[in-house]
Amino acid sequence: MSSIIQLLPDHVANQIAAGEVVQRPASVVKELLENAVDAGSTEIKLIVKDAGKTLVQVIDNGKGMSVTDSRLCFERHATSKIRHAEDLFALHTKGFRGEALASIAAIAHVELKTRQDQDELGTHLIIEGSKFTSQEVAVLPRGTSFSVKNLFFNIPARRNFLKSDTVEFRHIIDEFERVALAHPSISFLLYHNGSEMFNLPHGNTRQRVVNVFGGRTNEKLVPVKETTDIVSITGFVAKPEFAKKNRGEQFFFVNNRFIKSGYLHHAVMAAYEGLLKDGCQPGYYLYLEVPPHTIDINIHPTKTEIKFDDEHALYAILRSSIKHALGQFNVAPVLDFDR
Ligand code: ADP
Ligand code: MG
Repeated sequence: MSSIIQLLPDHVANQIAAGEVVQRPASVVKELLENAVDAGSTEIKLIVKDAGKTLVQVIDNGKGMSVTDSRLCFERHATSKIRHAEDLFALHTKGFRGEALASIAAIAHVELKTRQDQDELGTHLIIEGSKFTSQEVAVLPRGTSFSVKNLFFNIPARRNFLKSDTVEFRHIIDEFERVALAHPSISFLLYHNGSEMFNLPHGNTRQRVVNVFGGRTNEKLVPVKETTDIVSITGFVAKPEFAKKNRGEQFFFVNNRFIKSGYLHHAVMAAYEGLLKDGCQPGYYLYLEVPPHTIDINIHPTKTEIKFDDEHALYAILRSSIKHALGQFNVAPVLDFDR
């Protein structure tokens, strides 16, 4: 009897993978920004139209790609960032799956312009629904520009599922802020429908936090600093009097990658014990550096959750360093005067 099992063609496999990698325009923003960071850029510009439903474009001044690589980057599992399984335990880049561009190109119209420093001319190509439709040699600045248009053009159900422009753009800002906060030494620009929304010059972490969240943020910030063998912590927590009813500005970065962790959040809250009014949440912007082999980033496709070898120690160090920082700033317990 003949067999009925077949390997799926690449474009179908890519479209299926895209379902995991690309949930909404903000996912495209995240992947393109991270690629621009990994390319060693010092300036990154994000241009968005109609909350990313019409256009997401990222222009960088990074290392660019050769002609061959400019096609290869759209293949599934094609990456320049890891070679061996061991490399997964020593990651220094945001990307490593080699999945993002293949997925995006399967469900959108993508235009790529790229040139490496050493090449006189660059490559301009177009790929739509995994099919290359044009490729030309072009005069281009050093770096790379990816334009992603008509996202989900071939998956109407996904397109219809997108929320209002306000909601989708909020998600884009979230991703933009996370990458921008993680990399204060890179300058970032964000335009939406022709208006400049963010203009973040390169600087230190405090300047980046203040530039992202506005001038008044500066007076809120209490610096946190701790260095141990397992982790080094830098960044800021907000003075308790600025705590709000909602969880607005709460950020953990581990090795320059934004992560979510209920456990570490709990450690921060424990450090504020007795200092916050009921139900109020402090802002925090905390940067943790840990040896790469002590974390596993591979547990989640969009990589916002990671696994630590020694979570308990991390918890204790984080809590005590924040407690100490708040104490140094003579932060007094809240009095119940307004009850
Ligand atoms: P990953 O980032 O996991 O490697 P991607 O699909 O996002 O996978 O990208 C595939 C490859 O394309 C990257 O490994 C990199 O070599 C190349 N690439 C993507 N974006 C850029 C860029 N902005 N500048 C230079 N090279 C890039
Ligand atoms: Mg990538």
